[in-house]
Amino acid sequence: MDNSKLIVFSAPSGAGKTSFVKRLLKEFKNISFSVSYTTRDRRFEEIDGKDYNFVSSEVFNEMIENDEFVEFQEVYKGFLYGTSKNGIIESLKKFNVILDIDVKGALKVKEENPEAILIFIKPPSLKELEKRLRNRGTETEESILIRITRAKEEMTFERFFDYTFINDDFEKTYQEIKFKILETIT
Ligand code: 5GP
Repeated sequence: MDNSKLIVFSAPSGAGKTSFVKRLLKEFKNISFSVSYTTRDRRFEEIDGKDYNFVSSEVFNEMIENDEFVEFQEVYKGFLYGTSKNGIIESLKKFNVILDIDVKGALKVKEENPEAILIFIKPPSLKELEKRLRNRGTETEESILIRITRAKEEMTFERFFDYTFINDDFEKTYQEIKFKILETIT
């Protein structure tokens, strides 16, 4: 599509971003998801090629050397996450594209594609974020603490984003996001 848009979602882990992205993808058939590459282990419920392309460090490093990423970051210590240039170019030919990436990756995408729309999702508070991470049951205590420390840092990036939504009520916030997306892609 000539006027395809890149829509980038970032948020501290546990703010609900992934649930919003999944619902948008279900509702909008003209939006596709940019499947990132990562070196972290697959979680039980995740599907290789759909949630992420799970690759070894060797493959990831080779991709870096071949300049295959628009952006990549070491989001959590030791694990790399990256957005494939080619993946984005191919998807944009047919769809609007949603990226679910960390704040630094989002800024890099904006630098390369100034027309990209950056959306920041915020939890109502850090206390609430901690509660959600614990309820999710997928993280170890160590991982929860790392994610909270990181969340504090990520919050400072909010000012670089085009729009912020506070996830205090999933349904209400979803409708607000949907309204903004409709405005953007039509
Ligand atoms: P998780 O390990 O919980 O799936 O993801 C951790 C973080 O990595 C999330 O904030 C997610 O948005 C971010 N992330 C996922 N893919 C990419 C990517 O390709 N690039 C960057 N910079 N961050 C990513």
